[in-house]
Amino acid sequence: MRFGVHMAQKGGFAANLRRLKEMGFRSAQIFPGNPTAWKMGAAHPRELERRRALAEELEIRPLVIHCPYLINLASPNPDFHERSRELLRQTMERAALYGSPYVVLHTGNHGGAGIEAGLELLVETIAGELPRWPAGVKLLLENTAGSGTALGSRFEELARVLKAFPPGALGVCFDTAHAWGAGYDLGSARGVEQTLEQFEKHIGLEHLCLLHLNDAKAGLGSRVDRHEHIGCGGIGREGFRALLNQDWPEDMPAILETPEMGGPWDRRNLEMLVELGGVG
Ligand SMILES: [Zn+2]
Ligand SMILES: [Zn+2]
Repeated sequence: MRFGVHMAQKGGFAANLRRLKEMGFRSAQIFPGNPTAWKMGAAHPRELERRRALAEELEIRPLVIHCPYLINLASPNPDFHERSRELLRQTMERAALYGSPYVVLHTGNHGGAGIEAGLELLVETIAGELPRWPAGVKLLLENTAGSGTALGSRFEELARVLKAFPPGALGVCFDTAHAWGAGYDLGSARGVEQTLEQFEKHIGLEHLCLLHLNDAKAGLGSRVDRHEHIGCGGIGREGFRALLNQDWPEDMPAILETPEMGGPWDRRNLEMLVELGGVG
């Protein structure tokens, strides 16, 4: 595995990336701009080129881009939907400039239209956008905890979207805390085994491109998305030990989105992954 961490924006890209490298991380995730704003914000091509070169020099790969939270490709509101489509396009273009192979997207909320209608709109929107996206950047659908009208908490739902496209056109990011919130019991070896079996049955592990490693603060099946430090939540040491000791591809990126990112906890969480048998 290649352990990484979601990188804070405060402190600057270069300093933060060097800090991650020093701690022993080999991958990183960033927001392309303000995660809660419709405007991506200007980026100087030369600055992006410098960032890309630094990531290469430090062998931080992949550098993953996480979409701004506002994007909702399943929104029944036409204005919101159009803005989401546009912001996703900008995010994909920004990812290409960073040399990033992956953009992580939450599958959105149907807003009362129903799961079927939401998934249909999501597929239709991606189908219209995909040909415009830059080559070499893949969209990864992230599983959600399923709060409110969120789509994508069940593997079946992610599979519906994935299978509407040729194999490999899209990928999946599996977030452990979201899965826990959605009711997938990752707290024991048996639970991990069953969850991965379900993933394989509905989606196929070959489509899993990225792991988000987060322990969960909320209850199993609570549909609440609250991240906790590795080993300190519902999944706990036993769950992570089982998960980390699967036969993962050597280059599988596994990114922490644990609380207090950018502080001393990053190192502690990495140490905990290694202690539990993770090789990254
Ligand atoms: Zn996410
Ligand atoms: Zn996540």
